[in-house]
Parts: sequence; structure tokens; C-alpha cells
Amino acid sequence: MSLPDAPLRYELMKVDAVTGARLGRVTTRHGAFDTPAFMPVGTQGTIKGVLPDHVAATGSQIILGNTYHLMLRPGEKVVAALGGLHRFMSWPGPILTDSGGFQVFSLADINRITDEGVTFKSHVDGSVVHLTPQRSISVQNDLGADIIMSFDECPRADAPREYQRAAVARTLRWARLCLEAHHRPQEQALFGIVQGGTDLALRDECARTLIDLDFPGYAVGGLAVGEGFEATRAVLASVTPTLPVQKPRYLMGVGFPRDIVMAVAAGIDMFDCVLPTRNGRNAYAFTASGAIRLRNSRFTSDSGPIEDGCDCYACRTFTRGTIRHYFFAAEMLGPILVSLHNIRFFQRLMGDIRRAIGEGTFDRWRRSDPRAAMGPSSAEVAAASAVEPSDAPRAPMETREEPS
Ligand SMILES: [Zn+2]
Repeated sequence: MSLPDAPLRYELMKVDAVTGARLGRVTTRHGAFDTPAFMPVGTQGTIKGVLPDHVAATGSQIILGNTYHLMLRPGEKVVAALGGLHRFMSWPGPILTDSGGFQVFSLADINRITDEGVTFKSHVDGSVVHLTPQRSISVQNDLGADIIMSFDECPRADAPREYQRAAVARTLRWARLCLEAHHRPQEQALFGIVQGGTDLALRDECARTLIDLDFPGYAVGGLAVGEGFEATRAVLASVTPTLPVQKPRYLMGVGFPRDIVMAVAAGIDMFDCVLPTRNGRNAYAFTASGAIRLRNSRFTSDSGPIEDGCDCYACRTFTRGTIRHYFFAAEMLGPILVSLHNIRFFQRLMGDIRRAIGEGTFDRWRRSDPRAAMGPSSAEVAAASAVEPSDAPRAPMETREEPS
């Protein structure tokens, strides 16, 4: 295979006539992926519990790794010495790494934020770590993903306007420093990240400044952090028309099927979320007729698959009753099978979205397909985190959520 001369090439194939939905294809030096695309999250250099061959069999064409976790353990130099992230996690296809910013701001015990960077305590060994834009890019250069992200500040959704403004100024300053620090621009495409909370003027200012810096792709960050569905929709409706048509657009950390369909309609091309795997480890399975909790006693003797009509390995091979038993017996295969099914559920959704855009029926499809309305109902939110009180202990894997 001859390598493309640029780290990333985006082909826009079709724009929906009614919505802003786009059908496209992104080619990297490790292969191509179709957009709109969903990226499963491999926090610690692995999609938890799922073999790379099985991840590929779900239709996943690109996966995500977390810079924050990999720099703390095993360290980016170790990953580089082991052949880079593709070899390290045995995934020969496209990979995207985040900048570490989101994890630092959402999880870490932060000591200090300055214009230079963030100082925090490592959750691995308690040591003090200083993460700067330059360091984030250096780590991502060593990891070697095909798409890497600028180091940005992600304030809380409810941060006051003045704080949002300061965070955007810092994000723009850091975006310039990231571009300067990037040592592998021929191999890795560095994306800029639009911040600004729910303030549309601030978002617009941030987007326009980043566009002037001419990144090969753009992300919208700082959403799905508690601002609500309508606020997310308003931000996307405002920001995406500003972004360059000939470059890919990535909505970070989103989300439920409803959120993805809404964002596709707004013109977003790429998504990542821990929902399929995190919820899968808690016996929470996505199906087109709604989410189900496989710990529920009504599945004890259920001989059907997790979801009728699903072609994934779990649904072709195991019954709901068996998988339920695995969860109660704390058998690893329970979380593995439901994670696999959930990733396939998201990839079937993306495949149907792409098909509908290609056929010019996306708007009709999103009004008729029940998945397009699947969001986090309060009952589902509770179910996703609850344990049936009188039942067996949770499987060991379930208590080790990837914090992201
Ligand atoms: Zn399935």
C-alpha cells in the first residue's frame, strides 16, 4: 500500500438535502474510515475486554486511546519502545489520541492551572505531574496515533461566563503552542478544539481563530458535560456551519444514539464515547427497542439473543439467560459479550446513518427509527449505575470503570 502524502485526507461524498448530515471518508496512513464514524474508547491501550479482531468485526474502523492514562502508565516512552500505539494495542488501523486535557480537568486532583499548563497529582502513584501543550503533543508524537488533539481547557458546564472566556483564551494560546510543538506533521493530523461552553458568541470567536490557524480537522469540545441536549444542539447548530466544509469535524465524548443522530444532522463526522463498553460491563445492553439490564430476573430462562436481528458474536452465540448467569457468577465473559454487542449496536447505527445519507433518506430515517430517540432516560441512568440489591456481587471488572 502506498502511503498518502498528507497525514489525513477527507473526501466529502454527499451532503443531505434536508439536514446538514455529511457522508464522507477519511484516509490516514494506517487506513481509512467512513464517516459519520463512531470510535470505541481504548482508555488504557485496549478496548476493555474485547479482542482487537472482535472490535474490528463490529465494524469499528478507528479507535481512540487516552493520552492521560498512557502517559502515566506505562509511559509514552515505553509505548514507543514497544513499537508505538498501533503495535502496542495490536490495532493496525486508524487511531486517535485525545490530549489528556479532558481527563485532567474532569478527574485529576488539580493543584494549579496557569497559562503554561496544569499541575496535578497522578492517580497511579500520587506523583506531581505537569501537563503543558508542548508535553501533550510530545506524548502524542511518541504514541504515534494518526489523529492527535490539541491540549485545551475544559471548564465545567456551569462555569461562569468570565471563566469560559478565560478558558477560551487559554485554549487558543495552547492551540498555537501545540502547532509549534508538533514534530510529526507529515504523519499525524493535529485537530484544533472549539471551546466556549454554551456561549454562542464565544464559540464563534474560538472557531474562527482556530480556522485561521488552519488545522487539518476540528473538534467541538466541552459538550455533554451536563449542559443538556437542547444546549448541545444549539451550540452545534451555531458552530458547525462555520467550520471548513473540506475538513472532518469531531464531537468529543458523545454520546447516546439520540445525541449522535442530532449531531450528524448538524454536520458532525466523528464521535467517541465510553457508553457501549462502560454500560456493557454493567450488564446494560442497547437494543433498538430500548436498553435492557441483563441482570433482571425476567431474563433468567430467556433463550433469545441480547437483541433480535443483531449479527454480533454475542447475539449469534449466547442466550440472554446464559449471559445473565455470567454476570451473577462474576464470569469475565458477561462483560465481554455485552461490551461486544453494544459496540456492534453503535456500529450498526452508524452504518444505517451512512446508508440513509447516501440514499438521501436521512431525514425520514431519523423521524422513523426508534434509535434516533434513544437518550438517557432517568430510569436508564439509574439502571446503568445501580446494582440489584439482593443479588450477587458485581463482577470484578465492573468496579473498575475507566474514568473518562
Ligand atoms: Zn448483538
